[in-house]
Amino acid sequence: MVDDIYRLKSSIALVYDDNILDVFLSNLREQFKIRVEYEEILDLLFSFDGEKTVNDVLKVYRNIDGDDLFDLISFLIKKNVLIKVDCEYPESFLSEQYRLVNFFEDYCSSTSDVIASLKLISTSNVMIVGLGAVGTWISESLIRSGLKNITLVDDDTVEFSNLHRQGMFFEEDIDKFKVDVLSENLCSVFPDVKINKIKDKLTSEFFSKYNDTYDLIINCADKPSVDETTRIIAKFCMKNKIPHIVGGGYNLHLTLIGQTVIPNRTACVMCFEKHLQKINDADLNGVKKLTRKNRRIGSFSPLSTIAASLATIDALKIVSGKYDRISNCNARIEFNVRERDIDKHLVEKNDDCEWCGNNGLYK
Ligand SMILES: [Zn+2]
Repeated sequence: MVDDIYRLKSSIALVYDDNILDVFLSNLREQFKIRVEYEEILDLLFSFDGEKTVNDVLKVYRNIDGDDLFDLISFLIKKNVLIKVDCEYPESFLSEQYRLVNFFEDYCSSTSDVIASLKLISTSNVMIVGLGAVGTWISESLIRSGLKNITLVDDDTVEFSNLHRQGMFFEEDIDKFKVDVLSENLCSVFPDVKINKIKDKLTSEFFSKYNDTYDLIINCADKPSVDETTRIIAKFCMKNKIPHIVGGGYNLHLTLIGQTVIPNRTACVMCFEKHLQKINDADLNGVKKLTRKNRRIGSFSPLSTIAASLATIDALKIVSGKYDRISNCNARIEFNVRERDIDKHLVEKNDDCEWCGNNGLYK
């Protein structure tokens, strides 16, 4: 460890008073305190500047015990306070993506880990099915976050009613195919992005035609229904062990944050379906049926962007390999825009599930 180089992360703030070191992790909105009986602790920690080795630091602070310092460094790495500088960031990372680098430093213990994570994002192939309000925002956010290979699926054209919710469509795009318009507009901002366009409906035969290697598939298609499109995608993904996300949606004043599924590690779509079916059956017991079949559900841009943003965050964690940081596994989340409440309904992976259970079809 003496030859290693560490850096105090730039988002960390420190206060030292009465032998208590108060550590604020601004990015993560976390704080912890530790007892440290060493008056020069702040100067010592700020000397981890990404250039000095541990040995250099020990030469300056001769009155500290080496083993105590090694223990402190190990502890602060685990707590996301220090990062090991085992290689330099490429210049392009710092000039173009320094905020993203800063964000990923919270998920990584070394600079080489940050570089590897961002490279994984840029080389992954993500399929987005359905370019409605949620799908377009997810596509744009992923590309702005460094994704360079994306497959866009939609057989629909831009309508006037899309413009109030979807950022990449303009009035002159009306009647053009959504995949063409979105591809063109995304490439005008990021010309090095490779976009594979599929103008086709999501039917049960879809993946026999488009069975490329995908690192993640996100379902944002709701025709004929979200349940139906999700099942088609989930079957293909479970069979091929591909992580998938149900992209979310909105219903009255609720935004539904769709679940993230890592095949055979988290609750699958069938685990959710069976679990929610039981709840719905119980809730609807004795309830009169609605007389209006085709209700027009309201929605506007803020609702779709909430669902899209939360799905994108999990998508980035998946394609960068940070599975332990995923937020939307084993849970169905509803965000009530009017009340500002978040309701998280937990759904456990079911060992008896007909898809992912011990004797399941996709085990
Ligand atoms: Zn299951």
